[in-house]
Amino acid sequence: MTVPVFRFAPSSNGALHLGHAYSAMLNHRLAREAGGRFLLRIEDIDTSRCSPELEQAIYRDLEWLGIEWELPVRRQSDHFEDYRAALDRLEDAGLVYPSFMTRGEVRAFIAEAAAEGKPWPRDPDGAPLFPSIDRERAPSERKRLAAEGLPFAWRLDMESACTALGHGVDWDEEGAGPCGETGRVRADPRAWGDVVLARKETPTSYHLAVTVDDALQGITHVVRGRDLFFATAVHRLLQELMGLPVPRYYHHALMLGADGRKLSKSEGDTGIAALRKAGATPADIARMVGLDNPL
Ligand code: GLU
Repeated sequence: MTVPVFRFAPSSNGALHLGHAYSAMLNHRLAREAGGRFLLRIEDIDTSRCSPELEQAIYRDLEWLGIEWELPVRRQSDHFEDYRAALDRLEDAGLVYPSFMTRGEVRAFIAEAAAEGKPWPRDPDGAPLFPSIDRERAPSERKRLAAEGLPFAWRLDMESACTALGHGVDWDEEGAGPCGETGRVRADPRAWGDVVLARKETPTSYHLAVTVDDALQGITHVVRGRDLFFATAVHRLLQELMGLPVPRYYHHALMLGADGRKLSKSEGDTGIAALRKAGATPADIARMVGLDNPL
């Protein structure tokens, strides 16, 4: 029998809050209950916003909560070559292309379409889908633009990727999506359009790094917030394209603030360190996130 492997994968771009505490404690508990392993991964690909100090603060908060993880911790910024290798494979398969349009150009293009009365499609997070201009460029034009020194991002050619795969993708959901989706869930990667896989300043993307790492670390159970439910469609597609193993997924409810909105990293009063300073104990935190019942 394979040993279940769980992970908590925070980004070190801010302080942990109650939502992170819930996710970390839930993963830790499920791993223990299953007689499995618990790994910690630092998702710091955005090196302009992540810092070693924030990473240390994450360790302090988790330790204080009584969470134990295996060493070494995988820090994504130490492994950019792994994500590059994955991107190379997709490039060799002809499934990625360089996109040169700047954010401003995309905005202007979409505003123009909207002015003509064409509603522009949006992804599940509400961001406009990337226009097809760059995808349709001739190879010679791509070469010319790159030779001019124009910065570009690598994007997945979603339509070609889905066509190349030739079959739909789904996953086993043990938690639930925003509309109660559970059990065998049909993935809809096309809803995301041509997602970014790497940028000039960040040589990978969340989607690519999380997919590569979950496979490399042998993660069998991905337990994370419901805000990433729909993104799973992209992860499942990438797994299929690269022949990677498929974990089970458990998307848990999000901790909401007093205003009913998702907690953010700037929310001081729900920050773990702030609560600790105010005299809260780890048991108080467990109670606050609803995980205080004994195993
Ligand atoms: N790093 C992501 C975050 O902090 C979580 C990624 C995941 O669990 O797949 O929101």
